[in-house]
Amino acid sequence: MAKTLLIRGEWSAGSGRSFAVRNPATGESVGEASDAGRDDALSAIHAAHEAFPAWGTLPARDRAAVLLRWNLLLLSRQEDLARTLVLENGKPIKEARTEVAYGAGFVEWSAEEAKRVYGETIPHSIPGKRHFVLKQPVGVTAAISPWNFPLAMVTRKVAPALAAGCTVVLKPAEQTPLTAVRAFELLQEAGAPPGVANLVTSSDPAAIGEALLGDPRVRKITFTGSTEVGKLLMRGSADHVKKLSLELGGCAPFLVFADADLDKAAEGLLWCKFRNAGQTCICANRVYVEEPVYEEFLRRFTERVRTLKVGNGLSEESQIGPLIDAAALAKTEEHVADAVRRGARVVCGGKRRSEGDLARGSFFEPTVLAGATADMRCMAEETFGPVAPLAPFRTEEEAVRLANDTRFGLAAYFYTRDVSRVVRLMERLEYGIIGANDPSPAVPQAPFGGFKESGLGREGGRYALEEFLEVKHVCLGI
Ligand code: NAP
Repeated sequence: MAKTLLIRGEWSAGSGRSFAVRNPATGESVGEASDAGRDDALSAIHAAHEAFPAWGTLPARDRAAVLLRWNLLLLSRQEDLARTLVLENGKPIKEARTEVAYGAGFVEWSAEEAKRVYGETIPHSIPGKRHFVLKQPVGVTAAISPWNFPLAMVTRKVAPALAAGCTVVLKPAEQTPLTAVRAFELLQEAGAPPGVANLVTSSDPAAIGEALLGDPRVRKITFTGSTEVGKLLMRGSADHVKKLSLELGGCAPFLVFADADLDKAAEGLLWCKFRNAGQTCICANRVYVEEPVYEEFLRRFTERVRTLKVGNGLSEESQIGPLIDAAALAKTEEHVADAVRRGARVVCGGKRRSEGDLARGSFFEPTVLAGATADMRCMAEETFGPVAPLAPFRTEEEAVRLANDTRFGLAAYFYTRDVSRVVRLMERLEYGIIGANDPSPAVPQAPFGGFKESGLGREGGRYALEEFLEVKHVCLGI
């Protein structure tokens, strides 16, 4: 029987129910996870609540020591973790190894940052008063993570929360709980005291979500996932006025100006669009190319896309793995069909892969669409699949208008050699993350998060810890 619930330092099966975890490349079961319900979530909250006073007041150096050991353990098990990650998520093994290193980076950074949670002394204006500012951990934190980065989205939440002195209840995505289980085993081995980090795997997210939202002991919700669920959590947090961090969906524009290094831009787009088969929240969703170089860029980009190898992520050669499930495959197909109906031309790809072994998984060909227009779903909604729709633009003004014409505001990219334009665009684009001549801006030490409906708060860097801290003003009469 799977025992994947970690509550108060004990691994258990909860009620004894479990659910299968499937490999999206083959459809086969690759393991089981315990299926937590409301009572398990409440037990985990209780454990986190009991552990909070001691963990929250432990010297920061001691909390950092646990995290530094966790970082080293994650790195020492990089290959095991990467394979688990491929089996349940499908991404190519090389990307999975990179994710483990990236995910461990948040742990290392948070450990170091734990020691730098400084307060403040504020000059007084009334002679008999003195003003101090303390920063203190918020309390029990509920973390809910998605399947597209099964390790990095866990460490990006759990590490800064623990560093700040919060205790945690994590609910990982139901498609990818096994990587989270491995990560929590290592966190326990690193010396996290019982109850400090609790894990509830479940196939009933609404029940777990309700338990986390409904319990006043949970003071903070940190969530990565869809905008739809993010809004639900926001509404649900209102009753107890919980602190919230939301990393939600995007619809990233990728702008290529006529003065850009077109080869660099094509390489950049290849990575930015097709990493994780297009299932990243900051991946380019819609591509705008300045008219004079539109055809040439389309040619150079398509040439590269045709070389991408689709296959099981366990193969070292694979560059495009399967989509996470049949629903994701159907959505990608729908976006392509809708674009074609509205006049787009399929330049390459465009179909699911169904020959040989690939038929068992949810594989979609890396696809380039030309002549995309604003009315197409792939230009207005997050596709979350390996589809790159290209459209021409005439002026910088038009490019900025098109880029900002969305309810999302997570990441935007542009390629140009004009330094003044770089400054204009970095100021005018309404996005939390900008890749200027760079397709891969996310690093553990920099803030990550969105404007508008892409979210609230920031993960990464020193900003991350602030999300798990309360600010207390102490006025001392002397
Ligand atoms: P999702 O359906 O919102 O799921 C995310 C997490 O929320 C999962 O753990 C899910 O559990 C849980 N969940 C679902 N319904 C819930 C409810 N009623 N109450 C509480 N929790 C609930 O999103 P997804 O499809 O897994 O992930 C893709 C989305 O995440 C995309 O929109 C992507 O852009 C976004 N994303 C954003 C970032 C960022 O940093 N901004 C990073 C990565 C992904 P189950 O797995 O059990 O359904």
